[in-house]
Amino acid sequence: MEMFGQNVFNQAVMKERLPKAVFKTLKKTIDEGLPLDPSIADVVATVMKDWAVERGATHFTHWFQPMTGITAEKHDSFLSPSDGGALMEFSGKELIKGEPDASSFPSGGLRATFEARGYTAWDCTSPAFLKEDGDVVTLCIPTAFCSYTGEALDKKTPLLRSMEALSTQAVRVLRLFGNTTATRVTSTVGAEQEYFLVDKEYYLQRPDLIMAGRTLFGTMSTKGQELEDHYFGTIKDRVLNYMKEVNEELWKLGVTAKTQHNEVAPGQFELAPIFENTNIATDHNQMIMDILKRVAIRHDLVCLLHEKPFAGVNGSGKHNNWSMSSNDGQNLLDPGHTPHENAQFLTFLMAVIKAVDTYAGLLRSSCANAGNDHRLGANEAPPAIISVFLGEQLADILDQIVKGGAKTSTTGGEMKIGVSTLPALPKDTTDRNRTSPFAFTGNKFEFRMLGSSFSISGPNIVINTIIADALKEIADKLEKSKNLNADLPKLLQEIAKKHQRVVFNGNNYSDEWVKEAKKRGLLNIPNTPEALKQLVTKEAVKLFKDHGVFNEKELHSRYEIMVEQYVKVINIEALTMIDMAKKSIIPAALEYATTLATSINAVTAVSAKLNVSAQTELLEELSTALASANKNVKALEKALDAALKIDDAEKQAVAFREKVFAKMLELRADGDALERIIAADHWPLPTYGEMLFIL
Ligand code: ADP
Ligand code: MG
Repeated sequence: MEMFGQNVFNQAVMKERLPKAVFKTLKKTIDEGLPLDPSIADVVATVMKDWAVERGATHFTHWFQPMTGITAEKHDSFLSPSDGGALMEFSGKELIKGEPDASSFPSGGLRATFEARGYTAWDCTSPAFLKEDGDVVTLCIPTAFCSYTGEALDKKTPLLRSMEALSTQAVRVLRLFGNTTATRVTSTVGAEQEYFLVDKEYYLQRPDLIMAGRTLFGTMSTKGQELEDHYFGTIKDRVLNYMKEVNEELWKLGVTAKTQHNEVAPGQFELAPIFENTNIATDHNQMIMDILKRVAIRHDLVCLLHEKPFAGVNGSGKHNNWSMSSNDGQNLLDPGHTPHENAQFLTFLMAVIKAVDTYAGLLRSSCANAGNDHRLGANEAPPAIISVFLGEQLADILDQIVKGGAKTSTTGGEMKIGVSTLPALPKDTTDRNRTSPFAFTGNKFEFRMLGSSFSISGPNIVINTIIADALKEIADKLEKSKNLNADLPKLLQEIAKKHQRVVFNGNNYSDEWVKEAKKRGLLNIPNTPEALKQLVTKEAVKLFKDHGVFNEKELHSRYEIMVEQYVKVINIEALTMIDMAKKSIIPAALEYATTLATSINAVTAVSAKLNVSAQTELLEELSTALASANKNVKALEKALDAALKIDDAEKQAVAFREKVFAKMLELRADGDALERIIAADHWPLPTYGEMLFIL
């Protein structure tokens, strides 16, 4: 209890240390989203600095989330010269605004490097915190990062905008149900994080893990995950000690690390925090990924956040549990008990269904990257088809709504929207479907498509905005209604009829579903270059513009960056493969070939009658695989050259997928064939067996 939040400049600390009036003003901004009053900045800065310096901080940094998907920081000391000595100072100006230059971050054409002005602006809705690494303590101030012209250069600003949009529309809908108390609705997220651990010794011997975060070669070990003995198994001491330190670091930062367990694949684990407001959950997920990696090193481990570090066993994802709650204390996706509450719940539920169906392509695009291409649709993660799981009970209610089963009645001036035909809903529908990409789980939706390395910002920007849009359409219609009790069920029926196709309660991993989804007209987008196109459709541009989340330029810049990133990732992987093949795998094969040839000669020299068929057969197999590897290295080099010459970014991404990546698969097959032939002491790389099972 003492440890929790000790490194966070949270509201309790502010209340204790700030003058009363200043605290009240700041709290209004934090809780109610009112504009920040700049006149309080100097006081807050000084108090924040004193608090940080008492805890050993010498530097501060504006901590921001550029479009790389990770976090960025540039440290400045509090040092200020004074009469030949020095003072520790921190001004309101320094707190509110930073000018980190930062011209080397991807901006997707939003600013030219010659006018490299990027600004960071204090986001007081997310608390400042201390980053401790050994003796080094740094005050981190969460900020938004934007260009001189006000365009968002980061993943934070649009997330905050999308939360605003959702709040505005959700409050309108709450008003329809007679709610006069709620003034804000906030989306909430709990992000479950999966990861792998490998021993540092092995990691350092694998150029592919170092450069690409995943194994580009490697034949499957004799045992995989088939015994299902790792999932929820006893956590080994070494890992448990690691987890303990991760938890403590996170608790100090006010991150509610709650659940931990072994995951399905050997060497794979999960950490889940308790849900929070989406912007804080996003910051905290970044901290979780950072701490997972940093603490691992202290235990001579390396934490892999890649979506698919090892072929042949499960990859890692991130489950994004999402709901929305009002500031009068309701979870709007909680079914509740009374019919009246049910009507409100059903309206929000239908908004989600409508949003997911209408913008399935956008949701898909928000989970697209080179790493996640190995998972989506590969029988371990949700397929590339977006559908919604409701559970038996809600699916049945949806059926009733489609058939017009919801009746309305008014008594004594009190609004009572008749869902009397519907059963009261229990708080938590316990049935679960693990294969659905967007599953209702009692009082929230779980979006399961995210990759483990993702910033959760992108997917949540999409979720918030598309649901804001659906709620807006509902509010636009019903605010005009003269008879809500009659018009609401009609509208819900209309929505249900139109969007029921996206609801699927069966096994999403089955081939039948792929066929069925096609019949229903649902999108099935298999890879990143295709999926990303969904981000910049006419509909998407309009959606984000209407809700003030991205202007067209901002949206296109993101698209460009993501297409580019895809190309860069595959390029790095291809180059690493070529390098490994040429510098270690082929040389190892040549050496072993020599060993075999030497053996044949040596044995035959003793007596020509001796049987050397084993050596000869092995040498034949080896030579075939070796020749193929050599041929495919050349072919990969050629494919890479050709792809790199393509000017058009979109076409280039397709070439990387269809030509370069395809060749990489062939080269991998050769490398893995060689691994199966070559003797252990001649093989230059740690094996899957070592990396996955020896922790
Ligand atoms: P499971 O493994 O069954 O999916 P977990 O308990 O591991 O479930 O994770 C559920 C996650 O959902 C937790 O992070 C939890 O805090 C989060 N969660 C619970 N209620 C909400 C809510 N109202 N909004 C967002 N997330 C929520
Ligand atoms: Mg889950």
